[in-house]
Amino acid sequence: MCGIVGYIGFRDAYPIVIKGLHRLEYRGYDSAGVALLNKDEELKVYKKAGKVSDLENFVKDIDTSSTIGMGHTRWATHGAPSDRNSHPHSSGDRKLTIIHNGIIENYNSIKEALLAKGHVFLSDTDTEVLIHLVEDIQHETGLELREAVRVALNRVIGAYAIVIMSADEPNELIAARKGSPMVIGVGKGEYFIASDATPIVEYTKNVIYLNDNEIAYIRRDDLLIKNIDNTVQTPYIQKLELQLEMLEKGGYDHFMLKEIYEQPRSVRDCLRGRIYPQQGKVQLGGIKEYVEKLKNVDRIIIVACGTSWHAGLVGEYLIEEYARVPVEVEYASEFRYRNPIITEKDLVIAISQSGETADTMAAIELAKEKGATIFGICNVVGASIPRLTHAGVYTHAGPEIGVASTKAFTAQVTALTLMAFYIAQQRGTITQSKLIEYLTELNEIPTLIEKTLKTNDHVKVIADKFKDSTNCLFLGRGSSFPVALEGALKLKEISYIHAEGYPAAEMKHGPIALIDEDMPVVFIATKNSSYEKVISNIQEVRARGGHVIAIVSEGDTTVKNMADFVIEIPQTAEAFVPLLATIPLQLLSYHIAVMRGCNVDQPRNLAKSVTVE
Ligand code: GLU
Repeated sequence: MCGIVGYIGFRDAYPIVIKGLHRLEYRGYDSAGVALLNKDEELKVYKKAGKVSDLENFVKDIDTSSTIGMGHTRWATHGAPSDRNSHPHSSGDRKLTIIHNGIIENYNSIKEALLAKGHVFLSDTDTEVLIHLVEDIQHETGLELREAVRVALNRVIGAYAIVIMSADEPNELIAARKGSPMVIGVGKGEYFIASDATPIVEYTKNVIYLNDNEIAYIRRDDLLIKNIDNTVQTPYIQKLELQLEMLEKGGYDHFMLKEIYEQPRSVRDCLRGRIYPQQGKVQLGGIKEYVEKLKNVDRIIIVACGTSWHAGLVGEYLIEEYARVPVEVEYASEFRYRNPIITEKDLVIAISQSGETADTMAAIELAKEKGATIFGICNVVGASIPRLTHAGVYTHAGPEIGVASTKAFTAQVTALTLMAFYIAQQRGTITQSKLIEYLTELNEIPTLIEKTLKTNDHVKVIADKFKDSTNCLFLGRGSSFPVALEGALKLKEISYIHAEGYPAAEMKHGPIALIDEDMPVVFIATKNSSYEKVISNIQEVRARGGHVIAIVSEGDTTVKNMADFVIEIPQTAEAFVPLLATIPLQLLSYHIAVMRGCNVDQPRNLAKSVTVE
């Protein structure tokens, strides 16, 4: 993962780079570093383990003026988070320096060859090997830097987004990508480089998304993009739709809380222009060319990771229930490594908030090779996955900065709900009157989410009771099972409390052994088809002294009489329960994490978009 920022132009580079790194910190925060060129055209590298603010403190008394510069915020893959493993990494003669996002898979063999030639390495990273390789190629062949970089990139296996600065080429940045994202902002007499558009948006709305295997040679007044095979590429300049306000906390203590509260809006934006309740019609412009495919498809495979995988499980219930197509939901990382059976008859739906998830991208490539049709469900417009897939549906949730996904999850579930009804409509597996009924109710969901958010104060009281727990179980049935998984994941990732999600009925096949008076068990016990069964499961927990927190439908008295706490959510159709039941679980984990003093927006060891396999 990691965040990359670069600048070349007429302004002071350092403040632009630092501000950009703050914006990209969600991608990794093990260490941060910058490279600048001082007035004697010497490369200056400053780097520090810890957050971007630690780096700022470290350089606060140093003259950082330079009109060219680059910076990195790391999510360590090779080598512990430490000062010496921080980026930028330099060549042996200190004339070249590099920042890198990704993994150089064959770094070991290259490193051995370079060690044999006398290269000395100062870090444990794969990245340092790449810059030494460039130096070595230059040394051996006398090639100019541009060419040496290209030759080096042809020798590496793996994924990268890199920026290279050279003391000998003080008016140029070289950027390249393969498998890791990179955006170039185009200004007048200046260029910006970043892992996503957020560091760029306040300076220019004109951007170029670099494609895989492209190298950009960037000067103040000139940009040349070549393919790694040396053919010149014509850059395609796009207009950014991102607004600066979307990237700020807007009065909330944390991005996560802001994003939880944005859900009425984000779900509404996902539905906008796509449902016509009175006509009983769903319209999905992004996949409309594939109507014939949808009519005849006999299997759908959903591939995703983490929270997106949970959204996929909700999608499975909905698509099977309404469109009557068999669905399999796969972890992208497992799918690609087990020779899966895929044919051109299959439809693969890849879900990823960032649209850059490396495992999901690899799964897409595999399915594509086998001839399947691929749809994407992504949040970031123009990211790699939307460009890699045949068609897709954007979730339109807006930028999600908190590392623990909240609004992106509910938007993914909304997009999958739309897809389920769209496919059902095409295949005639749902009646018009039912569709009118469902879409009318779906249209109300943003308002019901607003109502659900009113549980916040009550959830805070519950959080206070259970904040010192060391374990927690989340149980649900049907489409509330993935909600239980998501609730457990949220609690784990931001509060570091061990939590498990299970189908409620599975509890008695193992996890019940864990239940005692110290174990809170969160049930999703809304009034739907498995309500009675869930009640029996609640009794089983109570009989063993466990504490029950239950999410129930408004007005429920039965569960209220047996649970320690209930959280009431508005009544809705079973299909839409995940969109409401998720909200109090997000709030619960948020408050517990805050009460435990955890860094909610940047939980330890995590990063938002997982661009390494
Ligand atoms: N593999 C590199 C490292 O461990 C880059 C990791 C990243 O993408 O942050 O330093």
